[in-house]
Amino acid sequence: MALLKVISDRCTGCGLCVKECPYGAIEVVERVAVIKETCTDCGACIESCKFEALYIERRRPRQVCDPSQYQGVWVFIEHEEGRIAHVSLELLGKGGELAQALSAELCAMVLGNAIDPVVQEAFKFGAEKVYCVEDPMLEGYRTDPYVRAASHLVRTYKPEIILLGATTNGRDFAGALATELGTGLTADCTGLEIDPDRRLLIQTRPAFGGNIMATIICPDHRPQMATVRPKVMEMPEPSDSRQGTVIREGLPASEERMLTEILDFVPNAEEVNLADAQIIVSGGRGLGDPKNFELIRELAQVLGGAVGASRAAVDAGWISYPHQVGQTGRTVRPRVYFACGISGAIQHQAGMRTSDIIVAINKDPDAPIFDIATYGIVGDLFEIVPLLTEEFRKRLGR
Ligand SMILES: Cc1cc2nc3c(=O)[nH]c(=O)nc-3n(C[C@H](O)[C@H](O)[C@H](O)COP(=O)(O)OP(=O)(O)OC[C@H]3O[C@@H](n4cnc5c(N)ncnc54)[C@H](O)[C@@H]3O)c2cc1C
Repeated sequence: MALLKVISDRCTGCGLCVKECPYGAIEVVERVAVIKETCTDCGACIESCKFEALYIERRRPRQVCDPSQYQGVWVFIEHEEGRIAHVSLELLGKGGELAQALSAELCAMVLGNAIDPVVQEAFKFGAEKVYCVEDPMLEGYRTDPYVRAASHLVRTYKPEIILLGATTNGRDFAGALATELGTGLTADCTGLEIDPDRRLLIQTRPAFGGNIMATIICPDHRPQMATVRPKVMEMPEPSDSRQGTVIREGLPASEERMLTEILDFVPNAEEVNLADAQIIVSGGRGLGDPKNFELIRELAQVLGGAVGASRAAVDAGWISYPHQVGQTGRTVRPRVYFACGISGAIQHQAGMRTSDIIVAINKDPDAPIFDIATYGIVGDLFEIVPLLTEEFRKRLGR
């Protein structure tokens, strides 16, 4: 329910606020302005009122929502310059399982400009319906127009669950959208299930520094929203033959009212794509000195892999944060993960334990990393890493 209120004995029904509202959320009935459900409390109308007959109530009343009005599992498909974030496709896989458990539809939400290829990709990966808003204002991610577009879709079509990737933009968008919709959001979920009796999304995520797994529910508000990091969920199998329905809506916003403007796009010169790397060689405090990361870089280069690090190495300033693997860094799922001089604290494991093969090199035979390692080498990394580099160089001819 909107917090925008009309003081009826001041309102003359002049209709200025109706013209000003970008959402078409005000009408005049019997010479008094009436606020409709689509109002977002943006406040655009307040200044236009010459009679000071409009105001926004300060406290947001506890929202009582009827969950039966909300249906379907939506996945937000994040994309940039035609490239879809892999995590969005992974979430279509998980979303499909949740939708099946609810006997509901799996839908995608696509926002942007020239989005047809993205829409087709969403169908390939399992979406039955795609809700989209296509507008030049949505070219490139910006919080304002994206939240306007998404909240319009959500208020109109009422999904019961929305899943989003915990990427840089996904985190920003999810928080802003949940606030706009007055609902809950669980960030960085590692598990998502359905409680079939209550039709609730059971959201699991590490809490208290990764020492416990918390189960979080959102019983009183809809939609139930969750973000998930890349590589936490399995990538579903695509199928070219899948098709579905596209539902298009316009963007209820104008450029003049946006808070931000994109002036230029400067790609990060030091791009570290850990999420998509098939091989990662990571170094930790056991390296003892920043210059020793060169050993890690050499091995990674010979294997055609990426360089990762523990938080201890990042906190020491030996390597930059985009390389950090773990609970407060990246979650990775490569085919092979080398942990060199890394003890294997639970927070580090949280970001890499689902790697297909883990090779641990540590001089302490009791280091926790050996509990999850596929191959454990007990020894000095300064001897072992160069030997591995040399051997792989020979065998791979590099
Ligand atoms: C809320 C929270 C979030 C966190 N998030 C993260 C995160 O995202 N990622 C992360 O990594 N950590 C994270 N941490 C920190 C984590 O708890 C550990 O402190 C950190 O992972 C330790 O890094 P390390 O293994 O490099 O260092 P250490 O634990 O000091 O381990 C160094 C290892 O190197 C071995 N070693 C030393 N010399 C050699 C040698 N010459 N040859 C072979 N082995 C050698 C030692 O035996 C030891 O096992 C987090 C902590 C908290 C509280």
